[in-house]
Amino acid sequence: MWRASVLTIFPEMFPGPLGLSLAGKALTLKLWSLEAIDIRAHATDKHRTVDDTPAGGGPGMVMKADVLAAAIDTLPADKSGSLRPRLLMSPRGKPLTQARVRDLAAGPGAVILCGRFEGVDERLIEGRQLEEVSLGDFILSGGEPAALALLDACVRLIPGVMGKEASAAEESFSAGLLEYPQFTRPPVWEGRTIPDVLVSGDHARVEAWRRAEAERLTQQRRPDLWEAYQARKKP
Ligand code: SAH
Repeated sequence: MWRASVLTIFPEMFPGPLGLSLAGKALTLKLWSLEAIDIRAHATDKHRTVDDTPAGGGPGMVMKADVLAAAIDTLPADKSGSLRPRLLMSPRGKPLTQARVRDLAAGPGAVILCGRFEGVDERLIEGRQLEEVSLGDFILSGGEPAALALLDACVRLIPGVMGKEASAAEESFSAGLLEYPQFTRPPVWEGRTIPDVLVSGDHARVEAWRRAEAERLTQQRRPDLWEAYQARKKP
């Protein structure tokens, strides 16, 4: 079973949205598991302190290495002695990609540390070899929404979770392209029609149209993806 352990000062945020819909059903079916570990439970003083002022001064607070390490160290290695990937949600991290999500989903699970305040003591990142993962170039108030998003992306790829396995193979990023436009009934809406080719019943033409549209959209919207796609296509 794919196992997620989330370290947070807000364990009430979990499973949250992951308790509903696809991920929630899969949780009930025990296709994956989720434990939220309260970092505060590993504090050692009577105020259950998890943060302190930054060395060198400046605004905000920094999460303490000793408390976070105590929380992380409660997580044992599995029977084969191997550790799950340890991720730190962080705007400084490598931006999350579908390729990384696929790798994580294919593995044993993940340990995810959610930062708060100004972030975490750098020595913890080194000392526990945390992989910093970012959701994008913007700042959240905490790592929890990022952890929920990352878990959502992983869980839907676990075998048996998604109804139709094929829908994962065709979506955006799977071939390095954005997805083609989608349409459904009614055939005319506010005077707008569905492209003829999609109602032609000619599967080869549909396929060709979708490929061309995916390429057009990628070229237009994501020059970075388009360049990588072109480079990969060259012999
Ligand atoms: N002072 C930090 C931001 C701290 S935001 C800086 O300037 O880099 C507080 C916490 O929210 C972070 O520790 C991290 O866990 C989470 N967070 C914020 N933005 C994020 C993002 N884009 N991706 C992933 N986690 C993020």
